[in-house]
Amino acid sequence: SRSATALLCGLRSKSSLPDVREQTLIAVKPDGVHRRLVGQIMQRFEQRGFKLVGLKMLQVSEDLLAQHYCHLRTKPFYPSLQDYMTSGPVVAMVWEGHNVIQTSRIMVGHTNPAEAQAGTVRGDFSIHVSRNVVHASDSREGAEREIQLWFQGKELLNWESCDQTFTCE
Ligand code: ADP
Repeated sequence: SRSATALLCGLRSKSSLPDVREQTLIAVKPDGVHRRLVGQIMQRFEQRGFKLVGLKMLQVSEDLLAQHYCHLRTKPFYPSLQDYMTSGPVVAMVWEGHNVIQTSRIMVGHTNPAEAQAGTVRGDFSIHVSRNVVHASDSREGAEREIQLWFQGKELLNWESCDQTFTCE
């Protein structure tokens, strides 16, 4: 309903904003950085209305990767995944906003680019699962765990965007 929407978006007053500060980890993988896709990927999250609260470029260590992909360490493709993910810089971001975890997964698209819809990052920029350009956390627990793994608390900024009444972020 209109009033529910107004309440959700804090249109009446800031104090009516519920706690919708969901956050997710998005990382542009080395192929995305090499191919100069960072700006286009960030633009999609900005224009959707999400808020950037953390950003850094880093060389991922084998240790960080093993913790990040702990569910994949026994897979036959893990060694090549490690080579890929440590082959160059990664741009890691934390984006915040209403339902950002699920919406980001939709924006990023299927793990296998062959199955990713056009209009998604993977569907627009990649063709093979071993070079799928971007990472997005897949659940609330995953997002919390990954953000803690990749970022220190002080690297995340708590700020209010001037258009938050309209973006509902
Ligand atoms: P997602 O990245 O969509 O959350 P997964 O957690 O299942 O998917 O896999 C993590 C990453 O491992 C994928 O994004 C991809 O880079 C890589 N990967 C997954 N499956 C394969 C595979 N069969 N061959 C090579 N790399 C793979």
